[in-house]
Amino acid sequence: MTEVADDVERDGARPVPSTVADRREVRGFFAGIGLLVGFSIVVLLVWLVALLVLAGLIFLGLTVATRWNLGARVGASFVFAYLTMKLLRIVAETLDLIPESWIDGSKKSKPCPNCGKDLRTALAQQCMHCGADWHS
Ligand SMILES: [Zn+2]
Repeated sequence: MTEVADDVERDGARPVPSTVADRREVRGFFAGIGLLVGFSIVVLLVWLVALLVLAGLIFLGLTVATRWNLGARVGASFVFAYLTMKLLRIVAETLDLIPESWIDGSKKSKPCPNCGKDLRTALAQQCMHCGADWHS
C-alpha cells in the first residue's frame, strides 16, 4: 500500500500508471488519424464523383462528336475530366485568393467618426445610422 503511494508521490507529474496514459494517448492518436482519414476520404469521394460525372459528360460528348472506339473515348474522357478538375481547382484557388482580399477589405467595417457605429464597408463615406456624410 505504502509502496504504491510512494510511487505516485515520486512520479508527481504522472500519477496515472504509464500504461493507461499511453493507451489514452494512443487512442487519441488513432482518433485523430481516423478523423483525418475520414475527412480525406470524403473529399476524395466528392472529387471522384465530380470526376466521374465530368468524365461521363465528356464521354457522351465524344460519343456524339467523334467516331473513336470505346477505349479511346473512355480514356480521353477521363484524361479530359482530370485535366478539367485540375484546371478548375487552380482557377478556384486563384479566384479564392483575389476576391477574398477584396471582399475582406470591403467587409471589414470601421466605426462611424460621428456616432461610432459600424459602417457598412471600410470604404463607406456615409453612415447608415446617423446619416453623417464625409464624401470628399
Ligand atoms: Zn454614424
